[in-house]
Amino acid sequence: MGSYYKHTRTESAKVPYSFRCEQCMKDSGTRQATIVGNEAVHNSMSRSISQKEEANMQKEAFQKLKNALQEAYENAEGKHIYAKEFNDICPHCGKPQSWAVANLKNKLFENSIVSVIVGLIFAVGSYFYIKSEPGRFEESWQLGVPIGIMAVAVIIAILLFAINMVKMSSKNKKTANVMQKNLPDIQWDAVEGMIDMSRV
Ligand SMILES: [Zn+2]
Repeated sequence: MGSYYKHTRTESAKVPYSFRCEQCMKDSGTRQATIVGNEAVHNSMSRSISQKEEANMQKEAFQKLKNALQEAYENAEGKHIYAKEFNDICPHCGKPQSWAVANLKNKLFENSIVSVIVGLIFAVGSYFYIKSEPGRFEESWQLGVPIGIMAVAVIIAILLFAINMVKMSSKNKKTANVMQKNLPDIQWDAVEGMIDMSRV
């Protein structure tokens, strides 16, 4: 197995926004949400990369940033789900806002699903590994290995779900009794060229 070098690039963009605090009614003033695109990865046998590879990687990173912005835009304007980068803590009174609950609700199962998928991959992998050599699968306790891996993954999934649930209910509770619910005002025109606004 030869060694290789992993080159990565990420792109990010700042999106200005502001909100009227539901708790103290003050205006937050202009704040910045930094949206970061997924990493563009290029594995290379050499430590340095060519100009063309660099250009391709940057192009890919930029496309991934555009995807992240588009998703944030469609969630915000279409579904009133605001990405966590839009910090809802009031700079004046330090209290959270009701509009931040939707994102926590939306991500409730996210970590748990990842945990189950990773567990499944390792459980199936270990099953075929044990089965791959004759004689290795003779003892029934060996079946316990994939089952054990899956059980741990499920327990972790349940714990992660419980943590997310606590976070969401806590914010929900803290913001439930406000007199008037507001929404943040996001200045999407700052990233106008990078999103397709007709898709909401
Ligand atoms: Zn406030």
